Amino acid sequence: MSDTTEPGSYFVANYPPFSRWTTDAVPEVLAAFDRPATDAALGLYLHVPFCRKRCKFCYFRVYTDVAAADVERYSQALAAEAALAAARPAVAGRSLRYVYFGGGTPSFLSVKQLERLVAGIHESFGWDDAEEVTFECEPGTLAEPKVKALKALGMTRISLGVENFDDRVLEANGRAHLSAEILRAWDWIKAAEFPNTNVDLIAGMVGETFESWQATVEKTLTLEADSVTIYQMELPYNTVFVRDSKDGGGTVPVADWPTKRQWVDWAFDRFLEQGYSVSSGYTLVRDPARVRFQYRDMLWEGADLVALGVASFGHLSGVHYQNEPHWEPYLAAVEGGRLPIHRGLTPTRRELLVRQLVLQLKRGRLDVARLREKFGVDPLAEWADVWERLLAEGHLERVAPEPVLTRQGLLQVDSLLPAFFAAG
Ligand code: SF4
Repeated sequence: MSDTTEPGSYFVANYPPFSRWTTDAVPEVLAAFDRPATDAALGLYLHVPFCRKRCKFCYFRVYTDVAAADVERYSQALAAEAALAAARPAVAGRSLRYVYFGGGTPSFLSVKQLERLVAGIHESFGWDDAEEVTFECEPGTLAEPKVKALKALGMTRISLGVENFDDRVLEANGRAHLSAEILRAWDWIKAAEFPNTNVDLIAGMVGETFESWQATVEKTLTLEADSVTIYQMELPYNTVFVRDSKDGGGTVPVADWPTKRQWVDWAFDRFLEQGYSVSSGYTLVRDPARVRFQYRDMLWEGADLVALGVASFGHLSGVHYQNEPHWEPYLAAVEGGRLPIHRGLTPTRRELLVRQLVLQLKRGRLDVARLREKFGVDPLAEWADVWERLLAEGHLERVAPEPVLTRQGLLQVDSLLPAFFAAG
């Protein structure tokens, strides 16, 4: 990987990569919904694709300038899709272990819209027994009554997209919120006493300097969030930044990878000094004995995930799938009484092993015994060359009895993972 932050994606979200998922596999996905339920943990992801404004680094499918009627139609579609999914044998009668409202901006919805959406979903799925219900928020969309409503609706984990505290940086990157809105929203979130709170930051946004990054980290420490997630700024192709830079014939002024790693390394040290622990290459938690991130942990260990909404990604009975990625085809499918599956992939058993291995490695260590028991393969022997190389390069502290990444390895874990895709 080049040191420069060039256009392209670096983050490994899943395996096998999305480029291998095909529309030909739709019948396999539908067949997976018709198989008897397994005993895997089951989660629900709800995609809310609306945002006040498109951030210049964002590559998600989001809609801005939507009318209330669009939001209403979409919420009804989510409820209808929930009913379609909940009626299929692979899902029927199973309890949810975790729920995630992601986006887009779930907090874009008004209190009334949220109450109607949740009531619609509850006709098919309850989450009183779920161990975690996460709700992503954009600071500028919150108001005190909305935060209280989120608590009343059963959200247990609020994740606030702070990204940075410097208004110059926020504006340069096209964020809709400013720092004053963060602090205001945080007071309401604290007062509502959610069991679990998370703050998202991005290291290396356009206009960031080491000094402004340090100030953002110090300010974040004062929030005393249960967890803090730090991403390193990427420039996926389908973003305003990359498009504008091509039109202008220039590059986007984002710090290079070694600089961003240095900044995150510094931030990790600051959080550790204040009592946080490292929970993955991106996350620090204040009280590891109490604070879990079930969505991440269960998903990374191979749990099922029913995905609702336009362009959502799910995994059921060993099959990956993605919903229709465009507004009208998504709505037309659901309103026509069909699951809106767009493409999928049935990974081989070996690919499922690789998926679990690479996702677990993002936490900094590998549970070798568990993988061996589940897949009947010894990952140490299977990828012996890769482990040895990573050790020689300083990315691993040790290989046996289970591989443990060094800080250097952890902060660039995504760049290490492709070695497992082809090797072995
Ligand atoms: S708030 Fe999030 S989803 Fe919405 S445009 Fe910005 S980065 Fe994208």
